[in-house]
Amino acid sequence: MQLKNQSLLVMLLFAFGVMFFSSLGALAEEEVEDTLTPEEKELASPPGLGNPEVHKITEDIYAITGLYHPAGEEVGVSAGIIFTRNSVIFIDAGMTIASAEFLWQVAEKKMKGKEHLYLILTHRHSDHVFGMRVMKEKGAKVVAHTILRDWFQLLGGRYKQVIAQKMGWDREKGNEMLGDVLLFPPDQVIDRDTVLNIDGEEIHILVTPGHLWDELSIYHPKSRTLFAGDAIYEGMPPHTAFGGPDDWKLWVAQLQRLKELDIETVVPGHGKLCSKKEIDRNIAYLQEEISRTK
Ligand SMILES: [Zn+2]
Repeated sequence: MQLKNQSLLVMLLFAFGVMFFSSLGALAEEEVEDTLTPEEKELASPPGLGNPEVHKITEDIYAITGLYHPAGEEVGVSAGIIFTRNSVIFIDAGMTIASAEFLWQVAEKKMKGKEHLYLILTHRHSDHVFGMRVMKEKGAKVVAHTILRDWFQLLGGRYKQVIAQKMGWDREKGNEMLGDVLLFPPDQVIDRDTVLNIDGEEIHILVTPGHLWDELSIYHPKSRTLFAGDAIYEGMPPHTAFGGPDDWKLWVAQLQRLKELDIETVVPGHGKLCSKKEIDRNIAYLQEEISRTK
């Protein structure tokens, strides 16, 4: 009997101890929140979310920047959301399930629940497509380039593993960071410039190869917004590792074409929202690269 009482006492003391120290912990967490470095903040947020920022470009056009990217916060991935009368169009799905769920939560606040859903993927790279399951399972119609469809078919279910390996992650770490990734073939494929008419609103899908051959840029004339995917990088060099000088020449030609559009806001694939001026900086960088290979 005495033994029972003693163990009860020990258990009670232990429980109080846990409560005391965890409340101390919570307090300490609040106090240090403001003094965290970007790297520490990255660690403090849920794995695979990054440090997303929501930008309301107009009442119906949203851009999200700073979604998770393994190279760090300054390379944060962008995505977009266009609301029309009866539809919601997502542009890209981020690299992780956590990123896509964040995008969904942003959209959901403005939705009535009966909208037609679309997901346009700007290209096949993991940092723009791995979250697609979230939109697809809500019923989104997926639109992407023909090459993306072929790429998904070729890799089958191995794409996540390929990326995790590239990052040096084991299966567990890959699951923790990326989430339960599942890729679906597009419902509609595009291989030339296409105008979607959604609820009487034009969404221009422009085929803008260079970074990759399946690169699409999405232009919304009504708001003068260009969702450029990785055709445009803000504040950092455009990522040229996936092609050679011939691809970069094609890229420059596409950028020159995009420059002709009436654009107020550019949503780059990576970096901050910017203006058309950033297109010139990308062109200059690519031209420099081209001349270096001569
Ligand atoms: Zn990218």
